[in-house]
Amino acid sequence: MKSINPTNGKLIKEYEEHSDDEVSEILQLVQSDWQEWSKTSFSERSGYMKNAANLIRERSEDYAVLMANEMGKALRDGRSIAKKNAWVCDYYAENAEKFLMDEIIATEATKSFATFQPIGIVLAVMPWNFPFWQVLRFAAPALMAGNAGVLKHASNVSGCALALEQLFRDAGFPENIFRTLLIPGSRVDSVIEHKFVRAVTLTGSTPAGKSVASKAGSLLKKTVLELGGSDAYVVLADADVPAAAIACATSRLINTGQSCISAKRFIVEDIIYDEFVEHFVTAMKTAIMGDPLEESTTIGPMARVDLRDELHEQVSKSIEKGAKLLLGGEKPDGPGAFYPATVLGDVVPGMPAYHEEFFGPVASVIRAKDEADAIRIANDSIFGLGGAVFTKDVEKGERIAKEEIQAGAVFVNSFVTSDPRLPFGGIKESGYGRELSHYGIKEFVNIKTVQIT
Ligand code: NAP
Repeated sequence: MKSINPTNGKLIKEYEEHSDDEVSEILQLVQSDWQEWSKTSFSERSGYMKNAANLIRERSEDYAVLMANEMGKALRDGRSIAKKNAWVCDYYAENAEKFLMDEIIATEATKSFATFQPIGIVLAVMPWNFPFWQVLRFAAPALMAGNAGVLKHASNVSGCALALEQLFRDAGFPENIFRTLLIPGSRVDSVIEHKFVRAVTLTGSTPAGKSVASKAGSLLKKTVLELGGSDAYVVLADADVPAAAIACATSRLINTGQSCISAKRFIVEDIIYDEFVEHFVTAMKTAIMGDPLEESTTIGPMARVDLRDELHEQVSKSIEKGAKLLLGGEKPDGPGAFYPATVLGDVVPGMPAYHEEFFGPVASVIRAKDEADAIRIANDSIFGLGGAVFTKDVEKGERIAKEEIQAGAVFVNSFVTSDPRLPFGGIKESGYGRELSHYGIKEFVNIKTVQIT
């Protein structure tokens, strides 16, 4: 398994895959540590999780450099995500006990209650785009609930995967309560089959989610799926257009556009379309593309050359079908997986830019006749992860967010972000189940009913 620096195409390190026997051995060790771990108190678990949060803060520079090298994340983004990585650990360290307190339910019996018991090993299949955050938002609640975690990270970020394993060890967790398997996606099915694996969470593309869900479903193992998205940002005629344009561009460029919840489709009422496009293109132009280790860089390379080439193909096909190229759109010469901030206008059905997820710094702007048409277009998607509405009429914005947009999260007058306190997840082909908040920690527990007569 190779880690290749997407800035220059050079090999960073080649990692030996774990053999089938090694995978079995690791699962045996994890299962054995879990037996003890499942009986530990919340305060003991919480102490280790707090240590993990502190270590993340201490190591933030090292982790930022590791991410820049393995997947091209700009150093400034790598540093700022460290705060959130530590926050999710602190959040569950402080709240897990409260979230998982027995719930007394009044019945005719002497006592009835629901209790939330650990289930065992949860396998996490994770993507490269936020190599620490995606894993920690699964691992912090899972470990605090008394489960064990086994990570199969994306094949291009094995350095991050091993750093995470080390993090939990250094924080004082039992040696084998969180382990990394160095295996490719093609070997995930055999891990799901293993008798000690009780559940699977996958964050990644919709095809990977379908594959894992069908395997796990055939074995009656629970899954949580955080999949792709093509978030619609609806800009209504009464919006503060310059502010909306900046929020839209900021969201589109987060992590070089490689975020599941970064805005992808911009649906703008006809009457303000030209004004929006002018401000939006100006805002997208401010992106500084370059070496992620440079302090000034705001968008590094994409994570892999094949992903960059795939994105360029989607852009080219959309232009062939009539999309107007308003910015960028040219594949730079030279090494690395760079792709410039790009804006496509006049996007209509039939173009990849209308239907597909564009996982890079490319924005699709779509014209809507009016508010109802904008909502219709926003929902005309196989995805349903996030979305946003921009309007000065906040009551209207709230109604549209709550009742009209088909998505797991809709923000009014700002871009969608994840927050440990708020549930996170999608509908439709963006997946199911929720991470974060009190909902996230209850996904992988046995909600057991106890009644005393
Ligand atoms: P990906 O190709 O689906 O890979 C994600 C993970 O799944 C990797 O560990 C990969 O392993 C593994 N995998 C791929 N195919 C598999 C299969 N058939 N069976 C089992 N495992 C498989 O996705 P990506 O390119 O890394 O990430 C981008 C996608 O993730 C985008 O669609 C994005 O929207 C989505 N995403 C969603 C969320 C969310 O919370 N909803 C968050 C972040 C990203 P290998 O690397 O070994 O192939």
